[in-house]
Amino acid sequence: KLKLELVTKNIRPFPDFPSEGILFSDISPILKNPRALTAVIDLFEDHVRMTYPQVELMVGLDARGFLFGPLLAQRLGVGFALIRKKGKLPGPTVSVSYTLEYGKAEAEIQEDAVSAGQKVLLIDDLLATGGTLYAACELMKKQKADVLGCLVVIELKDLNGVEKLKPFPLFSLVQY
Ligand code: IMP
Repeated sequence: KLKLELVTKNIRPFPDFPSEGILFSDISPILKNPRALTAVIDLFEDHVRMTYPQVELMVGLDARGFLFGPLLAQRLGVGFALIRKKGKLPGPTVSVSYTLEYGKAEAEIQEDAVSAGQKVLLIDDLLATGGTLYAACELMKKQKADVLGCLVVIELKDLNGVEKLKPFPLFSLVQY
């Protein structure tokens, strides 16, 4: 409870960013406060140890999934792999294109980052429409990975991204 409070207190809302009508949740204060960052990782670790003790790999989303993913992976004693925006990764990659609120985007992973049957958890900072994490799940399917679920710090409930991710379960620390 205290840990969760510490996390919530360190999320800063910015109205009309990046465009009008959007309330942006800024996680920078969490990173700035070592106790808050530790609380985030503690809460994720507790959940994963209880729910997914079989996890073999954490897979993080570009870019804020990279802030929490490796810290959690280290705690759990598993590795971490990157899903990046198109054109950033060297060597053979697998990619998936997806639609954002405005326009299209493409996500990519190195072909050898995940192996078939590997039990993975996806991680990002925030779930809005679910489009980004859904695309990541599609990438994992292409790799024949076994997606156990998705983790986010913040879930925007109104946009119902959790529906979009089904059947993959979502765990969030803070809901708005
Ligand atoms: P979705 O694909 O609509 O679920 O949007 C989630 C993606 O957009 C994540 O990668 C987030 O980092 C980013 N995002 C969307 N809204 C916010 C916000 O309010 N704060 C921080 N990131 C956001």
